[in-house]
Amino acid sequence: MRKINPHDFKVARRGTSREINRQIALNLIRAHQPVSRADLARLMNVRRGVASLLVSELLEEKLIFEGAVGEAVGRGRRPTFLYIDSRQRCVVGVDIRASRTYILVTDLMGRQLGVVSSFQTNRDVEVLIQELARRIKQILTDYKEVGACEGVGVAVPGMVDPARGRVVHAPTLSWRDVTLRDPLAVALGIPVHIENSGKACALAQLWATRSDVVASGNSVFVSVSDGVGVGIVVNGELLRGRHNTAGEFGHVPLSIDGPKCSCGATGCWEAYISNLATLSRYFGRELSDPRPRDTETASFSVEDLIARARAGDAKALAAINSTARYLGLGLASIINALDPARIFIGGEITTAWSLIEPIVRRALRERTLTEFGGATEVHVVPAEDHPRLRGAVALVAAPAFAAPMVA
Ligand SMILES: [Zn+2]
Repeated sequence: MRKINPHDFKVARRGTSREINRQIALNLIRAHQPVSRADLARLMNVRRGVASLLVSELLEEKLIFEGAVGEAVGRGRRPTFLYIDSRQRCVVGVDIRASRTYILVTDLMGRQLGVVSSFQTNRDVEVLIQELARRIKQILTDYKEVGACEGVGVAVPGMVDPARGRVVHAPTLSWRDVTLRDPLAVALGIPVHIENSGKACALAQLWATRSDVVASGNSVFVSVSDGVGVGIVVNGELLRGRHNTAGEFGHVPLSIDGPKCSCGATGCWEAYISNLATLSRYFGRELSDPRPRDTETASFSVEDLIARARAGDAKALAAINSTARYLGLGLASIINALDPARIFIGGEITTAWSLIEPIVRRALRERTLTEFGGATEVHVVPAEDHPRLRGAVALVAAPAFAAPMVA
């Protein structure tokens, strides 16, 4: 039940129901392709003629195309199949992290077209923008066959104002009120969209078409990397809050006298579970000290730590198990606050899931207030699915499929 805002509303026009039906048709083709006109009419529960009219419009706008011809049923005509037109149009996804920045090219449906490339993140935003522009241009030249680039989506490890295209605060990069979108768009000559990485991940999950991804119901995405990003989906929409900063569970304290956090406070959830926190626990050093101690610690990643734990290094296993416990305690807070249908977790720590799942679940049950809260589904999104890059891609691709705002 949503209240109609009497100060800001959109009156239904004559074409409104048609606009909604058109988006429904587009989304059904996207989810079920390839489909014939008859399939579409059946899926929409409308007459064949109604479906055909919508299809003609979508074909005219080049949003879909007619592909292979199917087998005739009985004496009828052989049906042609409809597909979302993702040919010759690509999207670039960028995942900026405090340590490294990653780039991926996909088609409009989010299918990966090349290899993921990465480079060390320069914290000077002007230098970073120049390097990003140079690398994206190079990639688009290398993959000429992917066609025109529809846009670049950038996932940022911090709070973002997407309307102004600015990063409001990114603690792990020490960025405050930084302009990112417009200078990158000018350097590339391509539209750029920016969003908080947790929100971008949640968006990608919401728009996933893979049959093994359950996207219904309210959900929360927790992305653990150099920091912690959280995206919340309520009623099929991202929860943004007044200033687009809703969901900063990473900076909700687990303990007020805990370790120092990148935001300047102490005891934030992030300061217990980020990759940096896990590594600091292993090396027994302060999280707030960003200087690598020696060449080994400088290049040593959480994956390396997990490999050591699997090989029997008790200290490595203890460091990971502590992270698992804190991860579960923080998830319990999210469940107590939001009661979501499911939680998705992404990040390198998930490669240790078979080791840590029982510890995460035990901590989660310990601090949730009801039995069903304790049984909340937790799904791991594997690192090889590149959830943050897919989130960045969804920033460009998803708006074309979104429902129109009515009333
Ligand atoms: Zn913090």
